[in-house]
Amino acid sequence: MKSFKLTKKQALVLANKYPTPFAVISTEQVEKNYRFLKDNMPRVRVFYAMKANPSPIIINKMTQLGASFDVASDGEIQTLTAMGITGENMIYANPIKTTSGLKAAAAAGVNKFTFDTKEEIYKMAAYVPRAKVLLRLRIKNAKALVNLNEKFGAEPQDAVQLLKTAQQQGLDPIGLAVHVGSQTLSTEPYHEAFSICHTIMDRAKGIGLSLSTLDIGGGLPVPAPDTCVNLESMVKDINKGLTQFPPDIEIWAEPGRYICGTVMNAVTRVIGKQTRAGIVCYYLDDGVYGTFSGVFFDHWEYELNSFKSGKLIPSTFFGPSCDSLDVVAKNYPSPDLQIDDIIVATDCGAYTSASATTFNGFAKAPLLHWEKERDAIAAEAKRSDTCEAVI
Ligand SMILES: *Cc1c(COP(=O)(O)O)cnc(C)c1O
Repeated sequence: MKSFKLTKKQALVLANKYPTPFAVISTEQVEKNYRFLKDNMPRVRVFYAMKANPSPIIINKMTQLGASFDVASDGEIQTLTAMGITGENMIYANPIKTTSGLKAAAAAGVNKFTFDTKEEIYKMAAYVPRAKVLLRLRIKNAKALVNLNEKFGAEPQDAVQLLKTAQQQGLDPIGLAVHVGSQTLSTEPYHEAFSICHTIMDRAKGIGLSLSTLDIGGGLPVPAPDTCVNLESMVKDINKGLTQFPPDIEIWAEPGRYICGTVMNAVTRVIGKQTRAGIVCYYLDDGVYGTFSGVFFDHWEYELNSFKSGKLIPSTFFGPSCDSLDVVAKNYPSPDLQIDDIIVATDCGAYTSASATTFNGFAKAPLLHWEKERDAIAAEAKRSDTCEAVI
């Protein structure tokens, strides 16, 4: 599936209008990603995991499309509440919740939660009595880019007892939740998870506990070029696995990076250049403490497009801070660049600006809404009586 990619002309027009660095989000791409998922997995109710990119541009679009949200903290609940999203459309999917998070959930009317320990049952019973709860299970998947199952998930053999305890404490155990791990490129762990969930649902039924919901979590990959993943066959295969669950079982998903990964381009500029120990080094005005934070927090390698041709030389790209850790890319094949040249990083919507900091006094790159910018530029071109639209 195609990503949102600014053309050279579009990037230059924006870079003439706004100081770099900035990033541009396409809501048409958000819609494409959402619809693709719904078309191929029609049963799925989508809860967008906002931690991947909490930009209001994306959240508003997802709301318009009818999506719900996966939240993990009081801050995320309050952000959504302030945007008019009701607790009914949120799942608090952090298995270990803070007291302030539980209080915020109660205040906002959040009524869906995940948990993976007995201790959490008592916390939820105290702050959100009668809540609908899903037991998060541990799924082994060593191949995920980010393995979440070392941190979360109950062992399958403890599942029925935990669900029963939840019920005894006045909670409403409605189902099971898994997360196969972020940027998972194979469907194997899904099928393994489904089979475990199927068994537990049967066992639960055996003690009179009828589960109505399976939450398949996040993990769907950003289909960036170098991952070589065929998203369509992947999603179709996961959907096939879901047919083993009767139609009255509700299927939920919590995609994060899949929804937002391909919707954003970062625009940064070369602000310095020198050759060090024979290696060409460029210094950019955005770095790993900013939009490229995924280098550390997401083990990500970004595509850096300078729109220039010429011999490709393995080069180093540094961020603007005074820290030597601030390396955006090493050995990156790049044509020769000059100060002030623009670089566009595509497929950088997930776990980038979400984890950016203002370290060393560099402001976070502002996020622009592409379709608005495009329309404004077109209107301006019309006003200035140019026959030819700029973009
Ligand atoms: C982070 C997270 C997600 C989103 O994961 P992606 O891999 O970005 O899709 C979904 N659910 C939970 C509980 C998470 O912690």
